[in-house]
Amino acid sequence: ICRNGDPIYDICMKTSFDGLKKETEAFDLRDHKICIVTDSNVAALYLEEVKAVLSQCCSKISVFIFPAGEENKNLNTVKELYEHLIREHFDRKDMLAALGGGVTGDLCGFAAATYLRGIDFIQIPTTLLSQVDSSIGGKTGVDFDAYKNMVGAFHMPRLVYTNLEALLTLPKEQFSSGMGEVIKHGLIRDKAYYQWLKDNHDAIMARDLSVCREMVFWSNEIKKAVVEKDPTEQGERAYLNFGHTLGHAVEKLKDFSLLHGHCVGLGCVAAARICRLKGLLTWQEEMDIRETMERFGIPVTVNGLSWDAVYQATKSDKKMDSGSVKFILLKKIGEAYADCTLTEQEIQAGFDAVSV
Ligand code: NAD
Ligand code: ZN
Repeated sequence: ICRNGDPIYDICMKTSFDGLKKETEAFDLRDHKICIVTDSNVAALYLEEVKAVLSQCCSKISVFIFPAGEENKNLNTVKELYEHLIREHFDRKDMLAALGGGVTGDLCGFAAATYLRGIDFIQIPTTLLSQVDSSIGGKTGVDFDAYKNMVGAFHMPRLVYTNLEALLTLPKEQFSSGMGEVIKHGLIRDKAYYQWLKDNHDAIMARDLSVCREMVFWSNEIKKAVVEKDPTEQGERAYLNFGHTLGHAVEKLKDFSLLHGHCVGLGCVAAARICRLKGLLTWQEEMDIRETMERFGIPVTVNGLSWDAVYQATKSDKKMDSGSVKFILLKKIGEAYADCTLTEQEIQAGFDAVSV
């Protein structure tokens, strides 16, 4: 990934963890420490293997394991991580490695951004969602009270190392959660990608790794292009928030019991309704988006939420621009824009499309 044309880090895609040795050797960590930050599920699956590879090029490996789940992406866990790093005498030259999904990457990245005013970290994403989206682009952060990603920093990793084989142990619903962000990428930026996803549905859902490789690569290219143009979200990067305004509201009101990518998918379906009512998408296109989400295992309805609560949550989401809700819509499939003029009624019509 580049900033102003200069490369700042590599995105690497392999089918094992072995290549991590070569990639991390470049950081010359022989006299330095690395702390692997991971959650309880991923630790049981991949920690020993990654530890063994990293210990070949780093003098001391330390490990911080936290309980898996979005409910632990908060300042308490960050505090425990700081305490661990202080106990282990981590200094500015030492490094963190986020081994896990988006929760681990966001949390570890935020600790790296703030510990000693910033130390280096690498991303080793193991969920589909983190491989296609959250590990790329340097957004880090944690939830605060009921607010999603309310506290955070932009802090670029030194490397993103994706092992596609990790996808094979992912629970089904976690895989489909990642598909929410994947389909979003096609919708906001690339109609041909959206079509390719639909055409390759069976192979993707069977987790054929050669097809998944193409998908992760394509999504990475889209995310990379957007982030390189607008790293700190002054404009176009906000298009990646398509589906997130209502998605975050649902995620929050359901106490994080629904998966992030599922809420994003639901938010995309709601946004597609708004686009259709504004004459931007046809009825067939709206239905196509809804059916595509469903085919990839994403729920397209949510029950038990009142419009008032959803609207309040939408307004308090931080994607606001001077008081009005900044909503990302589609001019057409493959092209997004930001709309700050939506009325409450227009947003409610979107919510009605998914509310039962
Ligand atoms: P997650 O990190 O909680 O992982 C999901 C679950 O899968 C966890 O239980 C985890 O332990 C388990 N898991 C991880 N890898 C596994 C594997 N290979 N095999 C079996 N189980 C595995 O959640 P996520 O969906 O990866 O990420 C969601 C988070 O990402 C949200 O907090 C969201 O806000 C954030 N996010 C951040 C960005 C960004 O730009 N920083 C973008 C999108 C989403
Ligand atoms: Zn997201």
